[in-house]
Amino acid sequence: MSIATAVETLHTLIEGAQKGDFLSAPNVTLLAASKGQSAISIAEAIKAGVVNFGENRVQEANAKWPALREAYPDIRLHLIGQLQTNKVRQAISLFDVIQTVDRTTLADALAEAMRKEKREITCFIQINTGNEPQKAGVAPNEADEFIDYCMNALRLPVVGLMCIPPHEQPPAPHFALLRAMAIRHGLPELSMGMSDDFETAVRMGSTCVRLGRCLFGERE
Ligand SMILES: *Cc1c(COP(=O)(O)O)cnc(C)c1O
Repeated sequence: MSIATAVETLHTLIEGAQKGDFLSAPNVTLLAASKGQSAISIAEAIKAGVVNFGENRVQEANAKWPALREAYPDIRLHLIGQLQTNKVRQAISLFDVIQTVDRTTLADALAEAMRKEKREITCFIQINTGNEPQKAGVAPNEADEFIDYCMNALRLPVVGLMCIPPHEQPPAPHFALLRAMAIRHGLPELSMGMSDDFETAVRMGSTCVRLGRCLFGERE
C-alpha cells in the first residue's frame, strides 16, 4: 500500500471511530511517527496531507528535519521520545511540541531554556499509566503534583497528556485514566493511540493519534 493510500484509509478509520461515540473529540490530529523513515517517505506523507510528525530522538530529528522544514515550512514537529536534559536547548530550536515532559529536572530545564530563547514550545506531560519501571513518564500517583508544578509553578505551556500503554494489556483502562487526569487539570489535549489501538483511543477521546507502522509500513 502506498503512503498516500494509507493516509487516506487512516483518516477514514479515524472518522469512523469519531462517529457515534460521546467521548470522541471533534478534531483528531493524525501524527506520523517518522522514526527511522527516510526524507523520501516523509515527503510522501506530507504530499498526502500530513502536517504533524513525531520523532523520537533529537539527533535523528536534527539530521533529517532542517532540510525538510525548509522545503515544507508548515510542518509541526513533535518530540515523542525521551529528552535528556543536556539536549533541551537543541530540542526547543528543533521542535514545535514536546510530548514527553516527565520529570522535574527536565521541566525546570525546559522552562529556563524557553525563557532564555524567548520561544514557547507546546508541552504534553507523559504519564506512565502502567507504572512500568523501564518506561518513561510520570508515575500515576505522582502525576497530579507534577502536572500542577509544570502548569502553575513553572508556567510551562502545557496543553495535554500523553501515554504509551503496556504492550500486553488492553489499552482502554489506560486511556480512561489519562482522560480522567486531563479533565481534572483542565487540559484539552490527549495524545494516545498508536497503530494497534488508535480506534479505541479515538473512541475514548484522543485528540492526537501517533501512527508509525500502519502509515509507513513495518520498520526495518
Ligand atoms: C514509534 C512510536 C509510535 C508509533 O508506533 P506504531 O506502533 O508504529 O504506530 C507512537 N508513539 C511513540 C512514542 C513511538 O515511539
